Amino acid sequence: MAKIQAVRGMNDILPEQTPVWQFVESRVRKVLAQYGYQEIRMPIVEQTDLFKRSIGEVTDIVEKEMYTFDDRNGDSLTLRPEGTAGCVRAAEEHGLLFNQTRRLWYTGPMFRHERPQKGRYRQFHQIGVECFGMSGPDIDAELLFLTERLWRELGLAEHTRLEINSIGSSESRKVYRSALVDYLGQFTAELDADSQRRLETNPLRILDSKDPSTRKILEGAPSLEHYLDDESRDHFERLKALLDAAGVQYTVNPALVRGLDYYGKTVFEWITDSLGAQGTVCAGGRYDGLVEQLGGKPTVAVGFAMGLERLILLLETLGLVPDYVNSNAEVYVTAMGDGAVAAALVLAEKLRAALPDRVIVSHCGGGSFKSQMKKADRSGAKYAVILGENEVANGTAGLKPLRADVPQTEVAQDELAAALAKVLSD
Ligand code: ATP
Ligand code: MG
Repeated sequence: MAKIQAVRGMNDILPEQTPVWQFVESRVRKVLAQYGYQEIRMPIVEQTDLFKRSIGEVTDIVEKEMYTFDDRNGDSLTLRPEGTAGCVRAAEEHGLLFNQTRRLWYTGPMFRHERPQKGRYRQFHQIGVECFGMSGPDIDAELLFLTERLWRELGLAEHTRLEINSIGSSESRKVYRSALVDYLGQFTAELDADSQRRLETNPLRILDSKDPSTRKILEGAPSLEHYLDDESRDHFERLKALLDAAGVQYTVNPALVRGLDYYGKTVFEWITDSLGAQGTVCAGGRYDGLVEQLGGKPTVAVGFAMGLERLILLLETLGLVPDYVNSNAEVYVTAMGDGAVAAALVLAEKLRAALPDRVIVSHCGGGSFKSQMKKADRSGAKYAVILGENEVANGTAGLKPLRADVPQTEVAQDELAAALAKVLSD
């Protein structure tokens, strides 16, 4: 019988891969904590209407990428394609936004039915950040400082660049939209098929078409910049001044529009040139209208999401995963002969109690001296503790360095934890 396999585009994250995931997640958690952000955990499944009303009916996500199904009661539910909508729903539902500002973050799997390729999957993971109740460009700037600090923490600062833009208020976008449609309407036949369709549904998205003939036509298109309302223009100027003051480098990309309807004013992307077409590792912007659009009291907001698969792929591609991340043993405790098994297990327990931050792996399953030492070596441990019947009788243990050509020493069991603490921190 054929074996059942994982769903296409949905990946297992194997034991060899989880250390780098944990490394990235813990760095992100640390930076978020440093800025005073609080974690929120939402369900993976939401009412379908939540996404239709927030992301927008004529976006790629809602039109063709959502995993939507009827549950047994006949309610239409959807596996979340992103986290902002659910976060706003939860924050509003529990009164988190009432007369207060909030800085929230979340992490977890997201689901989009896209064509799987490097850096693009059907189940992928994001860490998202959403800030509520702060209208000025200072919080926009803080999000960019925070992300830049994270790139530094991960060693990625040299490999990511920031693009920003302002897409104005919805009124100014409406005026621009009709100017853009008037212009592009002259060239309908020459546009790529996607752009032709978008001309009717979501013309701003044509701006980030990759099609060469569409790109050529876009060169003569009116620019959104010239349609910005005064408030958006002022907000954007102040944001740029804050980034300049902090020495954060960026480029203004007038074609950056983002694919979700709820954005307005500031939008941004952190991009790497080392991952080919799937180069956006973090993207976000301001969405001042969304809370009200979902039935809440008008509440301004700004946020972003970063794709964990892409960040990890980038670290691996660039060889930036620190060695220690992948070592899953520091000390390997062997038991040579049946008479040493109990003593070795007890000794390992004592070591764990004395050295709670060290990884101490006990050999289990017996075997010859040679096979146990081979396993000790493969574990990645720096030291093997060797306990035979003689050592048990003498109250000692052999301490053997596995990564240096240094002879084994004999240490009293009572002094072993102190000896390991010293050699492991050298
Ligand atoms: P793209 O233009 O690459 O499709 P997007 O604009 O659809 O990205 P967002 O909805 O803004 O992406 O999601 C934020 C981040 O989540 C992206 O920058 C990317 O890092 C990651 N991401 C989005 N879709 C996927 C996917 N299918 N697989 C892996 N990561 C993804
Ligand atoms: Mg997409």
